Amino acid sequence: MDEIEALAGDLATADQVVAFTGAGVSTASGIPDFRSEGGIWDQFDPSEFQYSRFQTDPAGFWELRAEMHEAVYGGDIQPNEAHNVLATLEADGLLDAVITQNIDGLHREAGSETVIELHGNGQRVACEGCGRRQPMTAVTQRIEDGELPPRCQSCDGVLKPDVVLFGEQLPQAPLQQAQQHAREADVFLAIGSSLSVQPAASLPSIAQRSGGTLAICNLESTPLSSGAAYDIRADVTDALPALLDAL
Ligand code: ZN
Repeated sequence: MDEIEALAGDLATADQVVAFTGAGVSTASGIPDFRSEGGIWDQFDPSEFQYSRFQTDPAGFWELRAEMHEAVYGGDIQPNEAHNVLATLEADGLLDAVITQNIDGLHREAGSETVIELHGNGQRVACEGCGRRQPMTAVTQRIEDGELPPRCQSCDGVLKPDVVLFGEQLPQAPLQQAQQHAREADVFLAIGSSLSVQPAASLPSIAQRSGGTLAICNLESTPLSSGAAYDIRADVTDALPALLDAL
């Protein structure tokens, strides 16, 4: 725990602090991991969810997508201690932003306000015509009733999950905001991420090159662990409450 106390000291004196979260923060809430063995991509074929498939056959795409949505979010999914601590740190003025690779929307649900969702939000849909966004829950029943693909009630455009699909470009605006936060961070907290998915995985290095302190909290080693100032190998739902206690 000495490491956590030292990190708490750095956080307390830092001007800019940013957290970057990955799958480990979601799995602690019961969201299945997509890529691990027995994960979502063992149950569903990723090629069915390509952007090109959505464009050519949105009805077929949505039929399976609705099934996958139920498999991922069908249970009682709630923010966990890690989400809650990050929201508390922001409310206390100790954290400036959360950058996340996760698409479950749980940071906002926990109360975090400055959240940069690099891969979008799977609990929302966006209209391909007018861009209007709404919660997935607003269209779930319509899909079940056979509205395939679901369409916008304002402009009749086809609705798309508000996430980055395979074969689709990462939106540039959130990535640029994230890079800006990384450059300005005095402390960059990388939490529950294997730091292996690019370009997001380059953010901790951007922070380090700009003089920021890198703290990694993950159960397993990452490619950046040996060069990090803090390498905390612990469950995120243990480490973050301990960090909050130490502050
Ligand atoms: Zn529309």
